[in-house]
Amino acid sequence: MNLATSLDQIKGVGPKTAAELRQAGLETVGDILLFLPRKHEDLTNVTPIAELRPGKVTIRARCQQISTRPVRRGLRLTTAVLADDTSKLNAVWFNQPYRVQQLGSSDEWFYFSGTFEYNYGRYQLTNPTAELAKELPVQADRLLPVYHAVRGLKSQTVRKVIEQLRPLMSVLPETLPPSVVKSEKLLDRAAAISAMHFPRNEREVEQARQRLAFEELFELVLASQLNKIDNQKLAGFAIPFEKSVVQDFVKKLPFALTNAQRRAAWDILQDFENARPMNRLLQGDVGSGKTVVAGLAARQAANAGYQTAFMAPTEILARQHAQTLAKLLEPFGVTVGLLIGSVKGKARAMLYQQIANGAVDVIVGTHALIQDKVEFHRLGFVIIDEQHRFGVEQRQRLLMKVKTEKVGSGALDTLSEPMTIATGSSQETERAAPGSRARHGGEGSVSSAPSDTKKPSVAAAMPHLLAMTATPIPRSLALTVYGELDVSVLDEQPRGRRPILTKIISPPSREAAYTAIDQQIAQGRQVYVVCSLITDSDSSDRKSVEAEYKRLKNSIFGHRRIAMLHGKMTASEKDQIMQAFKDQRYDILVSTTVIEVGVDVPNATIMMIEDADQFGLAQLHQLRGRVGRGQHQSFCYLMMSTNNKPSQRLREIEQSNDGFHLAEVDMSLRGPGEIYGRMQHGALNLQIATLADTQLIARAQKAAKRFIDSGESLSKYPALEARVRHNQRVTTLN
Ligand code: ADP
Ligand code: MG
Repeated sequence: MNLATSLDQIKGVGPKTAAELRQAGLETVGDILLFLPRKHEDLTNVTPIAELRPGKVTIRARCQQISTRPVRRGLRLTTAVLADDTSKLNAVWFNQPYRVQQLGSSDEWFYFSGTFEYNYGRYQLTNPTAELAKELPVQADRLLPVYHAVRGLKSQTVRKVIEQLRPLMSVLPETLPPSVVKSEKLLDRAAAISAMHFPRNEREVEQARQRLAFEELFELVLASQLNKIDNQKLAGFAIPFEKSVVQDFVKKLPFALTNAQRRAAWDILQDFENARPMNRLLQGDVGSGKTVVAGLAARQAANAGYQTAFMAPTEILARQHAQTLAKLLEPFGVTVGLLIGSVKGKARAMLYQQIANGAVDVIVGTHALIQDKVEFHRLGFVIIDEQHRFGVEQRQRLLMKVKTEKVGSGALDTLSEPMTIATGSSQETERAAPGSRARHGGEGSVSSAPSDTKKPSVAAAMPHLLAMTATPIPRSLALTVYGELDVSVLDEQPRGRRPILTKIISPPSREAAYTAIDQQIAQGRQVYVVCSLITDSDSSDRKSVEAEYKRLKNSIFGHRRIAMLHGKMTASEKDQIMQAFKDQRYDILVSTTVIEVGVDVPNATIMMIEDADQFGLAQLHQLRGRVGRGQHQSFCYLMMSTNNKPSQRLREIEQSNDGFHLAEVDMSLRGPGEIYGRMQHGALNLQIATLADTQLIARAQKAAKRFIDSGESLSKYPALEARVRHNQRVTTLN
């Protein structure tokens, strides 16, 4: 028996158990040993029901009655009555219908552990775990490991199998370099994993957890530091700083730059001067004015003869950015092109040609920019708006759009490509696959020029990268995942902005809100109404765009001009409506969250969000940021569908306009993995560690640096290397 042994070979694991384990993704001995408990329960501390106090509790009780019912789509509620010798209580489970089978048919004693709390007018035990008392080990001092119920897999099943494998624990190999284990005084890996499954006391669990968390963080920060080292080896294009160019640009703006904008622009222009590619994140809350900073940088790049590619996540945004940039840049003779799906036929072919021959300086677009047909002339600067909306591969593909050329003074000027119309056929050379960029050693794979055969490929240069985001990234995350990055923060709103007034509106106050809206429209302002659904649904009573549009049009706002917008419309329909709204041809826009990101209509002053509790904190803040972008006082109404107490999320957003503060709150309410894990497309796959553990992060950083400085080869540790390389790929910005 070894780590690769299939679980159905284990004594006591019958076909049924083997199937359950397989469904949960556990096939081998190694799989199950690494299936770590999500928590440990101290069952020695049982409280009689009659003596319960609110908080985390464990009781020993029998189930007297249990049933499940659907409440709404996606929510099934199971309720039970539990009793011991002292009293009874109600228990509820959300989406755990299997509890009926587990508890309903037996008269056995169970241990239940969960939160005892006051909810909906009475005390109840919420989402308790349930362990059959007679199956539990008898040792009184033992903490009980609780495993994730993957597809209904019972903790009891896992515990039984692992108990059999106990002698194998010691063969689990060490994965960290021994020098690191030693200097950090960590438990070795076998001891740590063994302690997670068979802990003797809390202290042992804590040590084990720390060792495993350290390993996860070490893998992340090592990846990040290696990325930084790789980036520093890359060649780039030096773009000289021209004071008069910057001054002329700033002079022509209809407003004064904020100090934060000045600082960010300065950071960028300084990076430009280096002959290695910039790798910078521009973080700024909604409305902080990121676009104009990007525009100024693009102006400087154009002045030095380089093209800028500006990629946005939606057509609406791309179009808006193109308009904004055209206004900012065309007075200086800098040309701006727009490449989106709805530019078709001859116009598109013409645009490809202008991009390839350098007739356009700044190319704004959606994903269309990374298509093979797009050939740039002298791409020196890449801007990615709302960067978290793009995958790593998409960002890399855009960066690889640079042509292969000699790096060094004057090399660019000697490039004289024949003019090409990039419409396909023989022109389309295979590009280097995304991810295969020459990161580790540097040469040659970034080759894409049509005339490859004539021109030997030489060391490739990377364009400068500016990634922009309105999602504030807490410092701990920035350090671990984005440690390779330089960050500029716009922590200041343009002057004259008044804070948006946000209000939670319960059903009885709805009419008053409509009255306030109508007054705003009478003053020439515009309004967004956001719904979470496109069409009414049988399984949900949430409001939909289509129904709400009709209702408002046929009743309260019959005298106003109303449009609707949602994701099922074609891109050009959406664009037309958005444009018409911008041009003030509508008063009210009923929409889904397609307007979420970046859309700029300074005349819009009311954001009404229906079923507000359906949205996450970050999304609510983003939506709210669609208003408050001009001189007028703006309002955000968070509409409640019931008279229930508003959630903490809603109360937080009602009280704060500060995106950074809300991000911290969001992180503490939901945990960082939940938020940033998804945001990074699964990059931040932390199972044990949390980003709240700044001390452990700092230790991991020092250890990673020492490891790199020691010159020891990562390839000596294949398991570690595999995970570090994975992390390098998924967390890099470029
Ligand atoms: P975001 O950072 O959310 O992308 P935008 O770049 O869309 O913000 O800018 C929001 C609005 O603020 C735009 O209408 C823009 O013209 C305006 N703006 C940007 N900078 C300033 C400034 N320094 N003073 C006044 N208005 C500004
Ligand atoms: Mg923006």
